[in-house]
Amino acid sequence: MCFNCVYARPLDVHKGVVYCEKLGTLQYSDKSGECPHFTKVTLDELLHRLGEVGYVYCASCGERLYSDAEVAEHLSRGHSVLPNEPFSDEVAAEEAPAAD
Ligand SMILES: [Zn+2]
Repeated sequence: MCFNCVYARPLDVHKGVVYCEKLGTLQYSDKSGECPHFTKVTLDELLHRLGEVGYVYCASCGERLYSDAEVAEHLSRGHSVLPNEPFSDEVAAEEAPAAD
């Protein structure tokens, strides 16, 4: 799903919403079935990022994870752990549609 895609960036304050770097839009639901850009995040990538940056982000919990064990635990619970920097509140507010 979108929340397990390498192009998805979590939002600091909004759980269950990600920003798609490929499409440049916020994603509120699973579009992976119809999205040609979907590329699943792998554990290797997450651990690589963890070693480089020091943390990855669990979009399901809305918190940063700082260790291999934490990443494995959240993944095992079916959470969406993403290698990308979370978006700030300001950017999210700008990108969010005014009405739907
Ligand atoms: Zn989690």
